[in-house]
Amino acid sequence: MTSKKRQSPLKVLIAIALGILVGDCTQQGKSIFGIDLFSLLHPLYEFFGSLFINALTLVVIPLVASSVITGIARVGDQKSVGRLGLKMVTFYISTTLLAILIGLFFVNVIGPGFSITPEHVSTSADLTDIKHQLVETHANHRFAEFLLKIIPSNVFAAFAKTEMLGIIFFSLLFGYCTSKVKSSFSQTVLDFVKGIFQIMIEFTHVVIKFLPIGVFFLVAKTMSETGLYSLYSLGLFTVTVFLGFMCFTLIALPLLLKWIAKVSPVRHFKAMAPAIITAFSTSSSSATLPITIDCVEKRVGISNRVCSLVIPLGTSLNMSGSALYECVAAMFIAQAYGIELNFFTQFSIVVLALISSIGVAGVPSASLVALIVILKTMGLPIDGIGLFIAVDRLLDMCRTTVNVFSDSCCAVLVACSEGEKSVLTKKVFD
Ligand code: ASP
Repeated sequence: MTSKKRQSPLKVLIAIALGILVGDCTQQGKSIFGIDLFSLLHPLYEFFGSLFINALTLVVIPLVASSVITGIARVGDQKSVGRLGLKMVTFYISTTLLAILIGLFFVNVIGPGFSITPEHVSTSADLTDIKHQLVETHANHRFAEFLLKIIPSNVFAAFAKTEMLGIIFFSLLFGYCTSKVKSSFSQTVLDFVKGIFQIMIEFTHVVIKFLPIGVFFLVAKTMSETGLYSLYSLGLFTVTVFLGFMCFTLIALPLLLKWIAKVSPVRHFKAMAPAIITAFSTSSSSATLPITIDCVEKRVGISNRVCSLVIPLGTSLNMSGSALYECVAAMFIAQAYGIELNFFTQFSIVVLALISSIGVAGVPSASLVALIVILKTMGLPIDGIGLFIAVDRLLDMCRTTVNVFSDSCCAVLVACSEGEKSVLTKKVFD
């Protein structure tokens, strides 16, 4: 993509600021000349926001499938796929564990749950009833279902239902087998898939043109539903989560980039800016996936061989921001309900946050489902979710950003360990 075609980050930042302002001014209960602004404008925000998310999601399946197939066909032999996979999983687990430990540190130091009064705890119970019923059925069979979806019995059904793990598994195997068939037919199939990949990247560029508009409506929608005041009213919890995210994203990950990959973290932030902004406004790492792939390949300069494996799988499996959030939220509930927080409890929360984050879908509020699993397993009160549900949507914007950024850092770490020299050497700044 030439710099002329690129979306100016300034326009998108202005769109976010406007979205926050307009959304906050048109919250539920606010009216001008007796007109209820929320019921008038919220459907508009929702409509145009959904149009943008639909356009992004439209690209996901063909882009991921073609990217994985071409990437794996290029890697070819089993040994190097295994080596790449091992490095990738090592970076996923270590970065997620690091994120959880940072969250654990801040929740212990700040102790946001200790400031919750007993009255607050009892009134919050009503708030969660609906959420509780919604997600409890989900939580029971979640893990087995999650494993079964990795190998779908019908690939078209997996495509139709956007089951990412099934699609990735099929594409991995398809790419691998294509590389094994040495004939002009397999080359034709591969060329066809490569063509789809390039077309889908171009498709993503068309959607990116509408980024400021999409971002405005999505941010305005969330703000009009939640409002900035809710962040203030749950101050300590919000501060704890924010500090955790900041420390992980602005200190821990940049240090890994600097020390292990020996690249400039500032350059990496600049290269990933479009994906970071999209993740923040959509609260969905799956919907952001086309833009993440585009940024990682075209702006960061990572090969399709590494990107096609690390980014789509990372979007499904590497949820550092969500894991940090789940750990802080579970500890917050335990603190609020006066549950003893000995070493065993805290260790179990860390392990559960690590495992349950793996199955978190890249869609808005998916962490709540994983959190229910942690709370149920630990015997912590599920009703405790009501204590912070008001700010969950806003914090979701931040944790999705962390998830996407963490995936991109893992891709840099893997690419540099594979000796790729082009990483962050291009002039990526708009
Ligand atoms: N919204 C997050 C994502 O898409 C998942 C979560 O709820 O934590 O990455």
